Amino acid sequence: MSQTDQKTPLVKEIPLKSADLSAWYTAVTIKAELVSYAPVRGCVVLRPYGFGIWENLQKALDERFKETGHENAYFPLLIPEHLLMKEAQHVQGFAPEVAWVTQGGSEKLTERLAIRPTSEVIIGVMYAEWIQSHRDLPVLINQWANVVRWEKATRPFLRTMEFLWQEGHTAHATAEEAREETERMLEVYREVSQDVVAVPVYAGRKSAGERFPGAVETFSIEALMPDGKALQSATSHDLGQNFSKAYDITFADTDQQVKHVYTTSWGMSWRMLGAMIMVHGDDRGLRIPPHLAPVQAVFVPIAKGGDEAPAAKCRELAAALKREGLRVRVDDRDYSPGWKFSEWEMRGVPVRIEVGPKDMEKQSVVLVRRDKNKGDEGAKTVVAMDGLAGAVREMLDAVQRGLFDQAAQFLKSHTFVVTDRGEFFERCKSRAGMIDIPWCNRPSCEAHVKAETTATTRNLRALEAPAECVACGEPATVRAYFAQSY
Ligand SMILES: [Zn+2]
Repeated sequence: MSQTDQKTPLVKEIPLKSADLSAWYTAVTIKAELVSYAPVRGCVVLRPYGFGIWENLQKALDERFKETGHENAYFPLLIPEHLLMKEAQHVQGFAPEVAWVTQGGSEKLTERLAIRPTSEVIIGVMYAEWIQSHRDLPVLINQWANVVRWEKATRPFLRTMEFLWQEGHTAHATAEEAREETERMLEVYREVSQDVVAVPVYAGRKSAGERFPGAVETFSIEALMPDGKALQSATSHDLGQNFSKAYDITFADTDQQVKHVYTTSWGMSWRMLGAMIMVHGDDRGLRIPPHLAPVQAVFVPIAKGGDEAPAAKCRELAAALKREGLRVRVDDRDYSPGWKFSEWEMRGVPVRIEVGPKDMEKQSVVLVRRDKNKGDEGAKTVVAMDGLAGAVREMLDAVQRGLFDQAAQFLKSHTFVVTDRGEFFERCKSRAGMIDIPWCNRPSCEAHVKAETTATTRNLRALEAPAECVACGEPATVRAYFAQSY
């Protein structure tokens, strides 16, 4: 380190992702200032840079929810115990992770209040009050909220006691409409994951053992992490009439008969950001897809001997890009350009814009892409200052595609269509990736695979031709992806 420039802090070092994914993940989430550990065990603070990414994900989802006819609303955080107890499977599924309020001020409560682990119950109770007639259907509501599930470990975005998410809750007159809604929202999640977060996923139905407590059918999108483990990134549940019967949500149909409604629920949480971090990051730090990046391009002025002109030019160009709707920042802090390069690379900004004295003369700037390595073809481009917004926009699109293509290539090369039983167990055990087999769809078979390898089904799809289950030899009824999971 140079002794002359004492103002320049050390570039924040992170472990190599390729050497230790887990240590890299924790370090990068902290050092890129996405989160801080909170003084409460199991909780993290979402810092402004992390919140900026979450806001962009929110925006992408919220737009699509509204396009598909949904409205936002907000329901209470606390749920009286007797209400939670009405849907037996639901209670059983969530009981081990519910946090309870037992006292208010100095008064001991006569009935405990659950802090919502999810809101099917409180929303179901309200729907029973609001829905009377077929004219009131469908009800299409989404809630942006926090939920609490008791948890001692802390892994930012992946495992925390309190987390942010959205939960959609809808009510319909028929089973068909509810199933259509469940599938429509699964498709919204698939699209946001792939087109916005640039994370390719497999979409499909969950096995009975992996289903949401109280659902008739659960669907999910599943992404593959660099360590060969799958990450469930969103779920969409067809709840049938299980909740409407437990909470007495009925309507008078066109034939005057009083019937129970069919409900759905669907959610994506900030876990999706955990997938984004792990899938795209590299040894130098984060790589944030442009659609999510709070800062899409950062200007770094390169000046000699206190020359203010490059910084002034950066501010002028940045103002023009902002007017074009781009999210940009000028880093004119008194640090060396090399330090700033490393810092913004670590924080995953998709494009860097360098402006030095020579660039000033030529009325051009240097654009550097974060999705490529130094020396790669097209990693660095010189473009004219005139029409800069167009060139930056083009490069952002290229980075967005570049990140998706790299991730899609990884998923493809780590998906194994397996027909041999020995190979199946070996690949599941060694965490090879997504193991694709014809499967019997029997809980006992899944339990056996889990006991032997810790892998489970991630999701299922239709079987195209008769086959034997690769795991047990019984007749297969579906195709399944098996993997170990987060
Ligand atoms: Zn089987």
